Amino acid sequence: TIMLSLRITPFGERKKQRLVVGRDITKIYHLNMIRRDFVANASHELRTPLTVIAGFLENLLDAPGTPEPHRRPLTLMHNQTERMRSIIEDLLTLSRLEMRDSAEEQTAVDVPDELHLILQEAQALSQGRHQFTAQIDEDLLLLGNPPELRSALSNLVFNAVKHTPDGTDIRLLWQRRAEGIEFSVIDDGLGIPAEHLPRLTERFYRVDRARSRESGGTGLGLAIVKHVLNRHDGRLTIASELGHGSRFVCRFAAKRALARTEPQTAAAL
Ligand code: ADP
Repeated sequence: TIMLSLRITPFGERKKQRLVVGRDITKIYHLNMIRRDFVANASHELRTPLTVIAGFLENLLDAPGTPEPHRRPLTLMHNQTERMRSIIEDLLTLSRLEMRDSAEEQTAVDVPDELHLILQEAQALSQGRHQFTAQIDEDLLLLGNPPELRSALSNLVFNAVKHTPDGTDIRLLWQRRAEGIEFSVIDDGLGIPAEHLPRLTERFYRVDRARSRESGGTGLGLAIVKHVLNRHDGRLTIASELGHGSRFVCRFAAKRALARTEPQTAAAL
């Protein structure tokens, strides 16, 4: 921090003086690194035993000799194991996002194509309980990392399915705007109380813990979206009104736009 002030000397002279305040963040940086590595290692170590447990549970469920009264508890155990696996996969995704160099693997991402696939998956997840509309600029591609962008876009679309009641309209927009490129997911569901909005992208933060769990949520989706956007010089804005629905908007810098007709090479940013 640099502060400028004026000092009046005993002779009435005005003298500019400068005060520099610094803070050593080496320790914070180091602790953050330890936390990051711990989460990554713990998630990685838990992955194998869980895969083994899930595998044995599947075998038991498939075996014709498994007694009928055991099937329900086995199914419940299997569901919970799968839930744990999703949480661990999301934690690993977050750790990788934190560790990776943002300059790597930049290519022309066919966002319209990805969005058509995501829409199909969202429709399958919704099972006819939501109405979808999409306005997609078919020629607009984005310079970035394909799996990361796929996961960010799908998280937002699947959230609209998971966290809104039956009969909700879900609208997707992919377009060029004066301020850059925008991807929006707009729903007319129940909305989110204002006090929760600033905390939604924190890890494991959910408005309704029990409901999120029921819908298969890990509470890590929006944290992943935020990290992916950070790595693409993008920003996530969330606006919501109770009783009227929510609007999640991802904004990317115009320099990341590529036209489908342009040669699709990774341009230097
Ligand atoms: P989850 O795995 O629970 O979906 P997220 O990090 O993706 O975790 O989202 C955090 C919380 O934000 C959700 O649990 C839910 O309460 C709220 N949320 C996200 N999207 C919506 C939406 N479209 N409508 C209402 N609430 C939402």
